[in-house]
Amino acid sequence: MYTKVKLTDGKTAKIPIRQSHRARRIIIRVIQNNPGLEIVIPSGKSLRSADLFAQSKSEWIEARLKERLANIPIKDGTELPFLDGTIVLYSLNAATSNVSWFGNKLIISGQNNNFEDIAIATLKTEAKKIIKPHAKYLASLVNKEIISLKVGDPVSQWGSCSSKGHLSFSWRLLMAPKSVLNYVICHEVSHLVELNHGPAFWKTVDKLCKDAAYAKTWLQHKGAHLRRYGTEKY
Ligand SMILES: [Zn+2]
Repeated sequence: MYTKVKLTDGKTAKIPIRQSHRARRIIIRVIQNNPGLEIVIPSGKSLRSADLFAQSKSEWIEARLKERLANIPIKDGTELPFLDGTIVLYSLNAATSNVSWFGNKLIISGQNNNFEDIAIATLKTEAKKIIKPHAKYLASLVNKEIISLKVGDPVSQWGSCSSKGHLSFSWRLLMAPKSVLNYVICHEVSHLVELNHGPAFWKTVDKLCKDAAYAKTWLQHKGAHLRRYGTEKY
């Protein structure tokens, strides 16, 4: 049993329908298996009502399905969102390794046999160059010191802070707007003051960052997109 939902790009999504004697009303659930959603209807309800319900939620369904779209490979010529703009990655075959910026082009030269890995390593370095001085500055505003700061590619977190003052960030934040990157840095630096998410913690965040609410909403709605870049490793 399934229903078909027409998407704005003209394609049709096939959403499975499951009957449940425990369901009290029709719901759409996010599931791990393809296509990522299912409709649950109380037993006794008609398939037609499931159909109508799905059609009325087509926008929401499309947004959820889009979040599950295929990964975007990072290769020679890939365009990436970058802070408030975009950059294009270029691979240049050369005997020696080098990285240079040419306007919004990031040219990675060397024996780029595995361009994606090299490009991500380069972007991690770029992220650290941007994040570290800013985090240090923010920490000085709250009279704290950062013991170490690293940039990696965690599965679900954007940043973290240990009780000993070790901070880490996802390189993917480079693809978010500046204000969102700033918020995550403020968030982790505020953990140097308060290692929880209590009112005192949020007071520190608000002291350091004006756009916290916007950034939180942005990450909730658009953060998943940043994880689409590169071959899926999760
Ligand atoms: Zn936190």
